[in-house]
Amino acid sequence: MDCIFCQIVAGKIPADILYQDEEVIAFRDINPLAPVHLLVIPRKHIPSPVQLSEAESSLMGKMVNTANQLAKKEDIAESGYRLVINCGQQGGQGVPHLHMHLLGGRQLSATLG
Ligand code: AMP
Repeated sequence: MDCIFCQIVAGKIPADILYQDEEVIAFRDINPLAPVHLLVIPRKHIPSPVQLSEAESSLMGKMVNTANQLAKKEDIAESGYRLVINCGQQGGQGVPHLHMHLLGGRQLSATLG
C-alpha cells in the first residue's frame, strides 16, 4: 500500500473527490497546471497503460466517459479540454498508478512536449 493513489482509493489520505463508483475515482490534482486539473483513476492498481490487460481495456472507455462528464460539470466542455495519460519514465509518468489528466479552463499549448 505504498501507492499514493491506492491510499486515496482506500480513503487513507485525503483528496478532493468529485466522482466515484465501483471502478473509477476522480479528484482534483494537488498541483494544478490549469484552472481545471482533475485526475481519473481506476480503483484497481494498474501501474500504467502497458499493464492494462485486454480484459481490462473497457476501463479506458470508462475513464474517458467519466472525464467527459466531469468536463461538462466543470463547464469546460464547450471551450475545450485535454485528456492526457503519461506512460512510463520518458512519458513523464510520476505516479505508478494508471491515471488520466483532464486539463482545461485556459488556452493550452498547441505543442505536446
Ligand atoms: P503524472 O506526472 O502523469 O504521473 O501525474 C501525477 C499527478 O498526480 C501530478 O499532476 C501530481 O500533481 C498529482 N498528484 C500527486 N499526488 C497527489 C495527491 N495526493 N492528490 C492529488 N494529486 C496528486
